[in-house]
Amino acid sequence: MYGYKCEYCTGTVHPRVIDREAFKHKSGFVILENVTVGVCDTCDSRYYSAEVLHVVHDVATGLKPAQWTALVPVAQAV
Ligand SMILES: [Zn+2]
Repeated sequence: MYGYKCEYCTGTVHPRVIDREAFKHKSGFVILENVTVGVCDTCDSRYYSAEVLHVVHDVATGLKPAQWTALVPVAQAV
């Protein structure tokens, strides 16, 4: 499922296991640990599989319980 061409450049997307990756969701953010994502070897664009996005959705909607909840710092950009 990996090894395809990047949508944004001429690079190739390879699987990489990320310790902690934050996913944006309608109701905020979900962080998955030890998640395999596709990463372009040239421009570093991230690609998420349908399964990963499914887990993000389930955690965000409470279907799958979160293991722990992180406090995320929020600040004004200016
Ligand atoms: Zn790329």
